[in-house]
Amino acid sequence: MRAVVQNDKNRSSWGTRVRGGIAVLAVAAIASGCAQDGGQEVRPAAGQPRLKAPEARALDSYATKLRTAYAARALAARRWGLRQVPLTAPPAPLHKPHITARRGFEVDDQEELGLPPVFTTVPTRQKVVFLTIDDGAEKDRAFLRMMSELKIPYSAFLSNFLVKDDYAYFRTMQSEGVTLNNHTLTHPYLPGLSYAEQKHEICGMQKIMKREFGKAPTVFRPPFGNYNQDTLRAAKSCGIEYAPIWDEEVFVDHWEYREDDRDLHPGDIVLTHFRGRDEWKGTMVDDMRRFLNKVTAEGYAVARLEDYL
Ligand SMILES: [Zn+2]
Repeated sequence: MRAVVQNDKNRSSWGTRVRGGIAVLAVAAIASGCAQDGGQEVRPAAGQPRLKAPEARALDSYATKLRTAYAARALAARRWGLRQVPLTAPPAPLHKPHITARRGFEVDDQEELGLPPVFTTVPTRQKVVFLTIDDGAEKDRAFLRMMSELKIPYSAFLSNFLVKDDYAYFRTMQSEGVTLNNHTLTHPYLPGLSYAEQKHEICGMQKIMKREFGKAPTVFRPPFGNYNQDTLRAAKSCGIEYAPIWDEEVFVDHWEYREDDRDLHPGDIVLTHFRGRDEWKGTMVDDMRRFLNKVTAEGYAVARLEDYL
């Protein structure tokens, strides 16, 4: 069954949101400015009191930088028709969370063989979600501009038969800091294939990605989220360390949830697709607008998945 998300409960007026956002940022700037700059005192000349002015100046310029960045995001948010300015993700965690296979999603000998874990949520208490975009059929320039102007991180999972006509599009994405991950050569139902065939699908894509993007990924997503032990053994054999799937899926006109509570949770991985009007009643920009409006209204920032791996 498809469910349409109710967004109206969290709608707020643009003006209120912008003013509130700046106030919050100013407080954040002072807090982290103190933490960073607390030790920077100017050594006084003999007999002179210690000078405090440079510390204040450093703090002031840090706050100015934050305000400028926020103003740019606020302008971009308005330009792309968002209801609110997307929240900024916290810095990458210094200590990476320990990620194991989700219970019920393990394969035989998962731990003994050290197989890449399949998971739907990253363990974290931070109010962040991770945006992952699959396949690669639609190559929408406006989408690239939108994400770059809003500074929204995401990870792409590419299937070769859909991207091979325009690797350059994904190289542009990569140059914006997006990590390109493995989603097989031809997007088959992997459990229906032999070990050797699965290995060809996954490891063959590793080779192409190394050739086209300069790097073989360590992250892989099985098509449709379907896999068996052979899948994870094959993936491991060619350098895959993680096999994230997803907890929510966004379409241009609705959301779908894995959990019965039909809600977002800290660390959730959200899936959407590189699809446009050929397949959907809307563009990727429309799809991203739906995604961002919802996560921002629920108080979540979008963080970069690979920062947590
Ligand atoms: Zn797919």
